[in-house]
Amino acid sequence: MRMSKSISIIGILGGGQLGRMTAIAAEKLGIRTHIYTDERASPTEKIAYKTTIAPYDDAAALQKFAESVDVVSFEFENIPYKTLEILEKYVEVNPKPEVIKICQNRLREKDFVNSLGVGTAPYARVSNRDELEAAIRKIGKPSILKTTEMGYDGKGQVQIESLLQQIELKDGVEYVLEGFVHFEKEISVIVARGKDGEVKCYEPAENIHKNHILDITISPANISKELAQKARDIAMKIAEGLGLVGVLAVEMFVCGDEILVNELAPRPHNSGHHTIDSCITSQFEQFVRAICGLELGDVTQHSKAEMKNLIGDEIALAEKYAAEPDCFVHLYGKATAREGRKMAHVTKVGQESVVNSQ
Ligand code: AMP
Repeated sequence: MRMSKSISIIGILGGGQLGRMTAIAAEKLGIRTHIYTDERASPTEKIAYKTTIAPYDDAAALQKFAESVDVVSFEFENIPYKTLEILEKYVEVNPKPEVIKICQNRLREKDFVNSLGVGTAPYARVSNRDELEAAIRKIGKPSILKTTEMGYDGKGQVQIESLLQQIELKDGVEYVLEGFVHFEKEISVIVARGKDGEVKCYEPAENIHKNHILDITISPANISKELAQKARDIAMKIAEGLGLVGVLAVEMFVCGDEILVNELAPRPHNSGHHTIDSCITSQFEQFVRAICGLELGDVTQHSKAEMKNLIGDEIALAEKYAAEPDCFVHLYGKATAREGRKMAHVTKVGQESVVNSQ
């Protein structure tokens, strides 16, 4: 017995922890997961029903994969667009490849967000030294230079303090210069949109980064009701504007009464991991429901939550957290703990802080 009559197996591109937690959620609904990844021994492989290990440009492997599943989605956005185009010939892909095209390029993403009347930091395209100098004059200092593609967790970012600063711009690489936002808080909203256009939005969560990597998420965010509604409205507007079928994380900066959008991720997101233990429907189950055309689940948050990523050596803390009655530990099944590598997360539900309990 399973929830969906028409979908018995989903295909997910990528084998990281997001795919792993999606596969666990899918199993709960009686839906199997077939993973396609170019990495051996991925965190998802141990959980998934089936895994294909092949490069993302292997057309024959992609066709075989597509023909073995009922719908395809992805757990990371740096997938070549061509890969999704190949898959779409054989199987339904949700969200649509067009969504990934927008979200995997910071310039396209900001142009799109602004086209909806939603604000971002000021920005300019840069591809050489002259354009960089013109952009710094226009946007001012401090500002942040980012590669338009393949950047995450602060990778490919340089803070610009002066026009004279020595910056090495790589030939053929496109960059975006962004004005530095003096934000009070970073928040994110996870929103789901189903095939029938139904939209459901989780509470905004507050995010604290360490070395550009998400360290702690507190949910709900400690912001006014008005700001929380504004954040939800922005997320819903973007999901609708994209014609999303799936889940989307919208990362935002709070500056006084204003909210600026920093980044979009059209997939489950690290700041939504707490939903597994704090909400009626987790972001992973919601993702499966949305891409399979099932009714969306209830997003009510039944417990306050604080999620901490266990990064690199912090994995040593997992046992201590596991002994605490209000902590839920989720290991990702990664063999080696490298610096900056997300190994696990812990969600503490209720009032107390995970940080204070260390
Ligand atoms: P990103 O890769 O764009 O998500 O950036 C990683 C982190 O860098 C963000 O979560 C912020 O903490 C910081 N950051 C990125 N862009 C800006 C900006 N324009 N102004 C201030 N901080 C930023």
